[in-house]
Amino acid sequence: MQWEVVIGLETHVQLQTKSKIFSGASTAFGAAPNTQADAVSIALPGVLPVLNREAVRCAVKFGLAVNAEISRRSVFARKNYFYPDLPKGYQISQYEHPIIRKGSLTIQVGDTEKTIRITRAHLEEDAGKSLHEDFHGMSGIDLNRAGTPLLEIVTEPDMRSATEAVAYAKRLHELVMWIGICDGNMQEGSFRCDANVSVRPKGSDELGTRREIKNLNSFRFLQQAIEYEMRWQIETLEEGGTIEQATVLFDPDTGETRAMRSKEEANDYRYFPDPDLLPLELTYDWIEEIKASMPELPQAMEERLVREYGLPPYDAATLTSSRALADYFMATVGAFGGEPKLVSNWVMGSVAAKLNEEGKDITESPVKPDQLARLLKRITDSTISGKIAKEVFAAMWTGEGEADEIIEKRGLRQVSDAGAIEAMVDQVLATNAAMVAEYKSGKEKAFNALVGQCMKASKGKANPAQVNEILRRKLS
Ligand code: ADP
Ligand code: MG
Repeated sequence: MQWEVVIGLETHVQLQTKSKIFSGASTAFGAAPNTQADAVSIALPGVLPVLNREAVRCAVKFGLAVNAEISRRSVFARKNYFYPDLPKGYQISQYEHPIIRKGSLTIQVGDTEKTIRITRAHLEEDAGKSLHEDFHGMSGIDLNRAGTPLLEIVTEPDMRSATEAVAYAKRLHELVMWIGICDGNMQEGSFRCDANVSVRPKGSDELGTRREIKNLNSFRFLQQAIEYEMRWQIETLEEGGTIEQATVLFDPDTGETRAMRSKEEANDYRYFPDPDLLPLELTYDWIEEIKASMPELPQAMEERLVREYGLPPYDAATLTSSRALADYFMATVGAFGGEPKLVSNWVMGSVAAKLNEEGKDITESPVKPDQLARLLKRITDSTISGKIAKEVFAAMWTGEGEADEIIEKRGLRQVSDAGAIEAMVDQVLATNAAMVAEYKSGKEKAFNALVGQCMKASKGKANPAQVNEILRRKLS
């Protein structure tokens, strides 16, 4: 039998606010345990939650970025469960009335585009952390994370392979960083996915029973976990077994998933509206104000780079893969004022190669956009060739100075003196009689070889256009 996998993702995105969602305690990562746990975070009796406006702004920005409906009225609800890292005995979340509904995100897999529907996104608070090391048979509780604002983003079961799920997760990751609502740090847990996976006979339009893989905090784990899970489900069904709905964990060491608990039903949580918080009402004007403050979105910029800048789609997609890279490219184009494709070649070529080599991020590039732009101007005004520019760039990278200084100091200025080039060409023709003969017998390749010889004789400094022209004249 042919099987089809069906995947829906729930992603927890930690919002980049300074303070917690219902109190003024700091959200900074990495502080000593419980030093950022105020009275609200540890749920002292009598404290009341006060909603953080910035967290709401982040949610609205996200809704706008995925073309969703922004609810003018949403409701916070208590999700009741017992766990040591949840001192209130309930998590404040949104249930029946989430702030965001019905958005979508377009992904690209190979040559095909696909739209993944986003069912909803709701605001909620994160729980604390249980620490199992160094406590001699006991567990420690760190409540620094308790109350950190999260946006939980839920898709429809629209994905049909691990690759599609990863493409969606990457797109989403890129987008939340682009609009500045999340730092995207997956090691620190700022962006984590739960994958709901089921399988069904190919062609069927009924959904199979799903299992939910919790807390995947890397794209690689997401891919591996889904692939393992779908193989396991198919095997189980083919051996005549059945799938029980369950929550499972992925073990990166074995590459396997294993059941953690049988799936709880929503009504186990006894959701009800939180009486300590008023329904959240947004004004039209405030939403409009947020809309006006939004940056151009990656998809729109990608299309514009093709349409207005004439870049190939591949370049446009690569350059808009992160806000920082797009900013770098745009700043260079702005300062350069010339052909955007030349900038794109350099950013995706020499700059990317150096960054890769040194494991650096574009924001750490020692060559800044305006410096790169000044180097590119020296190519277009024929001061140096593209090849020499690579040498200059390498020197700029190691801090030797500005393009112009390096060109002067190393004597790299292109030779455009016709007399000097003619002398060089004569020399090359005299010492390469065999190539000349080949050319004269009709072999065009020999011409290129002669140009190469001239460039070599000039140590790359002769103006290639002039070499071409003089050589043609002499050989005709
Ligand atoms: P819950 O509230 O129990 O987590 P939801 O119905 O809200 O369940 O669904 C959670 C996620 O599971 C959504 O992303 C949804 O698309 C996905 N999902 C639901 N049913 C299936 C299924 N049969 N196979 C795969 N994914 C599913
Ligand atoms: Mg769920």
